[in-house]
Amino acid sequence: MENKGYSKIETFNEEATEQLTFHYRKVLELLGEDADREGLVKTPLRVAKAMQFLTQGYHSNPEEILRSAMFKEDYRQMVIVKDIELYSLCEHHMLPFVGRAHVAYIPNGTITGLSKIARVVEAFARRLQVQERLTTQIKDCIQNTLNPLGVAVVIEAQHMCMAMRGVQKQNSITTTSDFTGVFEKVATREEFIRLISAKTI
Ligand SMILES: [Zn+2]
Repeated sequence: MENKGYSKIETFNEEATEQLTFHYRKVLELLGEDADREGLVKTPLRVAKAMQFLTQGYHSNPEEILRSAMFKEDYRQMVIVKDIELYSLCEHHMLPFVGRAHVAYIPNGTITGLSKIARVVEAFARRLQVQERLTTQIKDCIQNTLNPLGVAVVIEAQHMCMAMRGVQKQNSITTTSDFTGVFEKVATREEFIRLISAKTI
């Protein structure tokens, strides 16, 4: 059973876990904490596992995910998967950015399982990222694997590095988008934007 497209890794690399635990203990000390106090004793280990979980995308192959569920189909209308929950880490601060991805494509003889689109988003999001590259990687992966008539990706996200530090623009949302093929036509792109903006269900 997939949990909103996010699958949990149950095993951690032992060597990496050990090294990360050692270094996160040092981080706590450098921040002025007492790494031996009760609440923090297991924190380095927990962080070591959490960070491996949050970067598990390095161990998945998004094109492989799509190829695992490709079907011949004559449907040539827009397929949209909207409001895909997105959790990533900005590579500049290693702080979270969270939001939603909306992905569309127009098949050219081949479709994929809808859950696979969400899994592709996850595979790229669970790495150190910038939102712009994440957007483009998702688009390229779908374009190169399914070879559709066009792909559209829009990501809306809030960056904790902006909300919690620096300029402290708590509510600002960053939107990025990238398109290929038929989505480069204004009419097609506008239909996509209208459909992802509509309140449904
Ligand atoms: Zn950042």
